[in-house]
Amino acid sequence: MFNQTQKNSIDFSSKVITHDCNDKLLNLENSDNYETVQSSHIKRFMERWTADPDFRNQVYTEPCKAIFSYGLKVDPEEIRQLLDINFFEHSEKGNTIPKSLKLWQKFFDKNRTDTAMKFAASINEPRFKAWRERQIARTTRQFKKWLQDALIHAPVCFELSKGCSIQCSFCAVSAPRLSNIFTYNQENAKLWRDVLELIKQILGPAASTGCCYWATDPLDNLDYEKFSNDFHSVLGVFPQTTTAQPLKDPDRTRSLLKLSRQKGCQLNRFSILSLKMLNKVHEEFSAEELAFVKLELQNDEANTIKANAGRARERNQKNGENNNNLPEQGTIACVTGFLFNMVDRSVKLISPCNADDRWPLGYIIYDEGTFSNADDLEILLKKMIGNNMTLTIRPGDLISFPRDIEYKSLPDGFQLSTKFKTFKFHNDLYLRELGQIIHKGDKTAEEIASLFDLYGISPTHTYSTLNLLFDKGVLDDEPKPKVSERLVQK
Ligand code: SF4
Repeated sequence: MFNQTQKNSIDFSSKVITHDCNDKLLNLENSDNYETVQSSHIKRFMERWTADPDFRNQVYTEPCKAIFSYGLKVDPEEIRQLLDINFFEHSEKGNTIPKSLKLWQKFFDKNRTDTAMKFAASINEPRFKAWRERQIARTTRQFKKWLQDALIHAPVCFELSKGCSIQCSFCAVSAPRLSNIFTYNQENAKLWRDVLELIKQILGPAASTGCCYWATDPLDNLDYEKFSNDFHSVLGVFPQTTTAQPLKDPDRTRSLLKLSRQKGCQLNRFSILSLKMLNKVHEEFSAEELAFVKLELQNDEANTIKANAGRARERNQKNGENNNNLPEQGTIACVTGFLFNMVDRSVKLISPCNADDRWPLGYIIYDEGTFSNADDLEILLKKMIGNNMTLTIRPGDLISFPRDIEYKSLPDGFQLSTKFKTFKFHNDLYLRELGQIIHKGDKTAEEIASLFDLYGISPTHTYSTLNLLFDKGVLDDEPKPKVSERLVQK
């Protein structure tokens, strides 16, 4: 974001802090909610700093003028500390930092993600819980740590529209054009509440970590607030909102933010698509109003790296980007569980992956189906759980290593590695043989157990070793391509 030379070039000394600056600071210090107000302005300063190169230049040359010309009620001394590259390290070491900076830092607070993750992990259904843990083991070896740490792996998500009206050129989930809305009529409202009750029954409190948008913008649906209220009344949490159209109807946006806060939602998000949009958002909403709204700065000037998935990936491919220039992140998916579309009454069982030719949207689709009411949805979900979320290896399962893993035979076992992780299974000649058989990938668990049985190794021992590998997520569970997919690949 900035370097030491730049930091040193910003002169926040008393020579630059004019009387005018000090007067304004005094006024602010006398206000009721000094720390919250100040942290919301620090947040706004950072948004402007990140998204707007002209502002950055102004800060280098005339910091106080830049700050006050944008109406930012910030203490230049605190900003100086904030722009210190050691700020985060400094605060992590427990050194004293101003309370307003601490409040602002909460926006980057890992604890928030950790709490959501703990909640998301508290799944009632044991097979679902174990399946989700195996998916997390898979993504841990496939993603960079910063991405893995940020992934909630929420067990459910709902689309309340078909498509999205925004059509961002970088959309990682390739949202189609908006074509239909799930309206809150009597029939749909009943179905919605029935679906929420069913999900609560299956997942327990973990269901509350879901949200009501995916390849959709929540504000495309005029009844979004009604659906969110039901979500809150059934699951006990008001869902987080992320919208790219906060300016479409500012009064509605304000009411939604108010409702959301009243019902205990900690944080919402606006996607900012251009600098012009950022200017308008800052004009329309005060810093205090957006104190608990994270701005996702997607404008070109912010240089935010877009995940190489969906439309961004298609564009990269058209531009002939080679692998070395591509972003490390190949997904924005954060759901390991059920993705519903309420318009066409469909559900998919998904989990994040780096986008590739088979999974161009950055998530694996393990299963999918449609439903017409809560009764047949229950049958469908139970079938998906039964088919995809076994607790242990079944005799008829074909055993192989996943395609993202590199296998290497060792003198006393085998090694599996990806760019980010290496696993060794060794200290037993039996493991070397087992690794070779799994690497070949043409035998079922039952066949492998029978083979070793001939050499005096009990099937119980073989199943227990296979289950250990299974729990570590290093056995292939990717859905086999359907015949139609295989034909396309040829
Ligand atoms: S990125 Fe979000 S707002 Fe943009 S097209 Fe995709 S779903 Fe819609």
